[in-house]
Amino acid sequence: MSLRERKSKTDKEGAAPPVPAVTQVGPPEAEVGGILSIDLSAIEANWRALTSRVSPAECSAVVKADAYGCGIAPVVQALSNARCKTFFVAQVAEARDVRAVAPEAVIYVLNGISPGAASTFADATARPVIGSLAELAEWDAFCRANDWRGGAALHFDTGMNRLGLTAEEAVALSSRTKNLDHGITLVMSHLACADDPDHPLNDRQIQQFRDLRLMYRGITASLANSSGIFLGPTTHCDLVRPGVALYGANPTPGTDNPMRPVVELKGRIVQVRSIARGASVGYGATWTASRPAKIAIVSIGYADGYLRAIGASGAAAIVAGRRCPIAGRISMDLLALDVTELPDNVARRGDFATLLGEGIGVDELAGWGGTISYEVLTRLGSRYARVYRS
Ligand SMILES: *Cc1c(COP(=O)(O)O)cnc(C)c1O
Repeated sequence: MSLRERKSKTDKEGAAPPVPAVTQVGPPEAEVGGILSIDLSAIEANWRALTSRVSPAECSAVVKADAYGCGIAPVVQALSNARCKTFFVAQVAEARDVRAVAPEAVIYVLNGISPGAASTFADATARPVIGSLAELAEWDAFCRANDWRGGAALHFDTGMNRLGLTAEEAVALSSRTKNLDHGITLVMSHLACADDPDHPLNDRQIQQFRDLRLMYRGITASLANSSGIFLGPTTHCDLVRPGVALYGANPTPGTDNPMRPVVELKGRIVQVRSIARGASVGYGATWTASRPAKIAIVSIGYADGYLRAIGASGAAAIVAGRRCPIAGRISMDLLALDVTELPDNVARRGDFATLLGEGIGVDELAGWGGTISYEVLTRLGSRYARVYRS
């Protein structure tokens, strides 16, 4: 049963949702090369851990980009059940996806209002995060003309130079917000270097946001993303906005990961072959067997979001509990593992290799690919059978 079917069924019955332990979406397992498991109870546990860390501030959830590749509908449903009340997305279309499963939630749209699109926010009962005076003028006009009071956030730029009103604009506007009919429900800013606690920009941004907040007294204020939360209470304000930490990535790079792992990826072994010493594997013949070798071919490739760059970096996957090195380049739909060191007949056709999970975390995998956990998560492929555990 799909999540939507499950929901309408429970609505009819008027009972609490009977959340099954495992829900499967996507093609059946027998028809695919990879199985992606998302542990919704780990996402909930991560949200609860952040909630208690920042209390009495509120903890929202950032669910943009399909909840960092984990699936916006199941993630929002799980977090709503855990009593998360505020969600951030990047685009209005994503706000609609949140609204479909969380009728009562407050939803902010980080990328703001594109020209002429103010009415789409009212349609989805979503709140724009306004980042320029032009957007504010458009929102103002829309709210006046339609008597709309759905709320909006003001984003102040404190050093990221991406979105947001300048400090000068924020100061000039502060005397005028009480006259904005529609109401500003949130003021926020975004840290550029929160993952580096020693970076001097952190304190400058914290200080500047503190000064601006004082001019918007009585309005909820928000500064911290996942890593920002771990910079300490000066960033917590009234509301925090974690994204990547909910999905199991380490918000404190260089120290132990305080979050629970969420995503597991397994790929099916399509065949196991023996090759001679001196034979090469894969495109470009970049990997050569230094001894007679056994190679397991796994049906996951870069088209599944397993980055091609990983093939050049000494990465590994787990077969029968042991780490086996990737051999040669990642193809579009396949990759090769050197399973020579495994006992005979331990790696067999039809078995699964673990590419993510069993100790291989998103941060480690991202490092092999020369990128960050965010990119690994948001590229998770659409061909997998997806298993949601709760
Ligand atoms: C994406 C985003 C977040 C969440 O960031 P994480 O580092 O994933 O926790 C918070 N605030 C803004 C403005 C964002 O764009």
